[in-house]
Amino acid sequence: MNVAPHLERLRLLRPVKGRLAAALLCMGAGVLIQLGFPRAIAWFIDHAAQLQQHGIPPHLVLGMLGAAVLLAAASSLRFYLFQSASQHIVLRLRRQLFDVLIRQPIGFFDQHHVGELTSRLHADVLAVHESLTVGAANVLRSLCVFGGGVAMLLALSPLLSLPLALFIPVSLYLGKRSGNSYRQRAREVQSSVAESGKVAQEHFANVRLVHAFNQQAGASGRYGRAAGRALGAALANVRLAALFQGSLQLLLYLALLCTLCFGAWLIGRGELTVGQLTAFILYATMVTESASSLAEFWSSWMRTLGATDRIFELLRLAPRAEDGLQPATLSGRLRFEDVGFRYPQRPAQAALDGVSLQVAPGETVALVGSSGAGKSTIANLLLGHYPPGAGRILFDAFDATALAPAALRRHVALVEQEPSLFSGTIAENIRFAVPEREVTQEEVEACARRAQAHDFILAFPDGYETVVGERGVQLSGGQKQRIAIARAMLRDPAILILDEATSALDAASETLVQAGLDNLMRGRTTIVIAHRLSTIVHADRIVVLAGGRICQQGSHAELLRQADGAYAELMRHQLAQYGRLDAPLEAA
Ligand code: ADP
Repeated sequence: MNVAPHLERLRLLRPVKGRLAAALLCMGAGVLIQLGFPRAIAWFIDHAAQLQQHGIPPHLVLGMLGAAVLLAAASSLRFYLFQSASQHIVLRLRRQLFDVLIRQPIGFFDQHHVGELTSRLHADVLAVHESLTVGAANVLRSLCVFGGGVAMLLALSPLLSLPLALFIPVSLYLGKRSGNSYRQRAREVQSSVAESGKVAQEHFANVRLVHAFNQQAGASGRYGRAAGRALGAALANVRLAALFQGSLQLLLYLALLCTLCFGAWLIGRGELTVGQLTAFILYATMVTESASSLAEFWSSWMRTLGATDRIFELLRLAPRAEDGLQPATLSGRLRFEDVGFRYPQRPAQAALDGVSLQVAPGETVALVGSSGAGKSTIANLLLGHYPPGAGRILFDAFDATALAPAALRRHVALVEQEPSLFSGTIAENIRFAVPEREVTQEEVEACARRAQAHDFILAFPDGYETVVGERGVQLSGGQKQRIAIARAMLRDPAILILDEATSALDAASETLVQAGLDNLMRGRTTIVIAHRLSTIVHADRIVVLAGGRICQQGSHAELLRQADGAYAELMRHQLAQYGRLDAPLEAA
């Protein structure tokens, strides 16, 4: 048997070993008292006549009461200690898992759905909780009761113990057999739970789309089917468990029945008293019950093993390496040398192919091209989300792969123009740009002013403390953009990546956003994934991409002169469609 998976889970107990030791102590005390009870009952039965004559001695009553109170206190304490230990373990495990996941390279999130990961973080971790509290606490208790009970049985009558001697190995064997099939199935259950989490997350995230296309029933159907698969897998496991429970019960009653008949025969021969038989049956019940819970524990442990396989696989993932050069400043000079790239998910298709490009510090370069041309891929590589597959990207004289990812990102900021804000206050959303140090309120406000956001923020009753996001104030597209600009301003990067919105803002908003952007872009190298002709026309240089290659570059005027070039074609298309130059370009 491979013990590594078992040890790996048991290692989770290490941080709470103090609590567990105390819990074990309480458990030991409880079991000792419990083991005394059948003996006491036997004594009462065999001395019934005597007790009737002289009454129950007061010290006996006091002793029994004391034992009952002690037992109650020990069980409460044991319950609390085990449960709290397990809650701590669950929390630690969730944090470990989250820490590993959030540090994975972006490519990892191309392969794993957010809903699936959330499910791993909750449902799978919960499985550990169950087997560690209910399971581990029970198994230890059962072991003690089992050991003590067997000793008592042998002391009472070795002969009468024979039927039980048969039952116990059979039930343990059954437990082991069923446990092995549980593991595989539990893994399937957790996968289908994760799958249904993924479906739910996707529909919640796109709830506006679902409503807009009247897809509520379709969504219910898809979720129903995914959840149904989870049910199917879970029921298969439950059926096995039910069969196992039933067989165990049958065996148990057969063993007790044999003991009773055999015991009655021994009483008839004067070799056993009625009290002794009663005590014997009580001990036998304890022993068989603990044997069944040992067998059951094995199955539940195997279920946990299966349910948590994926967690441990994820925990073993190395976090992204964060070492490398950390230049204090960068001028903003960029150089792509024959860069090629394929997404790990689509190795057959080159997203970039032989891209060579030089950008001077402070220059504004607009990337244009039809959808899928490779514009966002260039941004992804600049942000260090993926290493280039071929060629080199140089920041000043530093090869991007030699720079520490965190250091690289300190000098590069992304402004998405349909930006996401976190649930929290406006000030928190702006401060998000600088995790390394405390940012003062003055700094936040200064950036917001330059991003043309200060005035609209102050118009809210709570000003910078206004809560935005899901539960808070809904901001307009233009307001979100200006907060994103303030965020990038605070970061103060040498290189700016703008991902322009494809949807148009109204003219007043557009003017404010543009003024904020102009302030932000001043003195920085800017790469714009451009969708608006006004942006393109004002860029220092335009790079036209098609199929992952650069097919033209130059200023607007230069490119227009090449009448049969891709750029001129794009412009003709644009004018024909919109009749003006400031419309979004995406349709081209
Ligand atoms: P653009 O930004 O110009 O619209 P992209 O850079 O997003 O184009 O895409 C370039 C190519 O890479 C496209 O063929 C696209 O389908 C593919 N692609 C983009 N992102 C991914 C991804 N995460 N995984 C796999 N393929 C991708």
